[in-house]
Amino acid sequence: MIKYRLKCKNCEKSFDSWFSSSKEFEKLKKKNFLNCHFCNSKSIVKTLMAPNIVSSKNCFENKIKIKKNNNIKKKILEFQNFIKNNFENVGDDFTYKARSLHYNNNKKNKKGIYGNASTKQIKELNEEGIETQIFPWIDNKNN
Ligand SMILES: [Zn+2]
Repeated sequence: MIKYRLKCKNCEKSFDSWFSSSKEFEKLKKKNFLNCHFCNSKSIVKTLMAPNIVSSKNCFENKIKIKKNNNIKKKILEFQNFIKNNFENVGDDFTYKARSLHYNNNKKNKKGIYGNASTKQIKELNEEGIETQIFPWIDNKNN
C-alpha cells in the first residue's frame, strides 16, 4: 500500500489516494481510471511525496473498535505485515528519523519508516510539514 498525494491540473486541488503499488498507480493512470475527487477531471498528477512515514500507536480506543470487528482486524494485520516487510522499524527513534528523512531529503533511503510516536510528537511533525500516517498497531500474539 502506497499513499500518494494527487493533484488535479484542472481545479488545482489535491487529495490523497491509496494504491497497492506504484505500478498500480501507473496502470490506473494509463487507463484513465484516475479522476479528480472534486471536479472529475482526468488530468491527475502525482505530486512530490513526503517520505512514507507510518507511525504506530497502540491506542485503547482503536483496540476496542478492532475487537468489535474481526474483518477490520484482518485488514489491519494485512497492512501491518506489509509495513513490516516494506518499512524500516525505527522504534522510539521515529521522530528523529522522520526529521532526518524530511530535512536531508535522503534519496538513497527510499524505504519508508515506521515507529512509535506520541500524539504530541506527531502534532509537532505535522506542524513542521512532515506528513505522517497514524496507524493502529495491534498485538498479534493471540492469533
Ligand atoms: Zn479537479
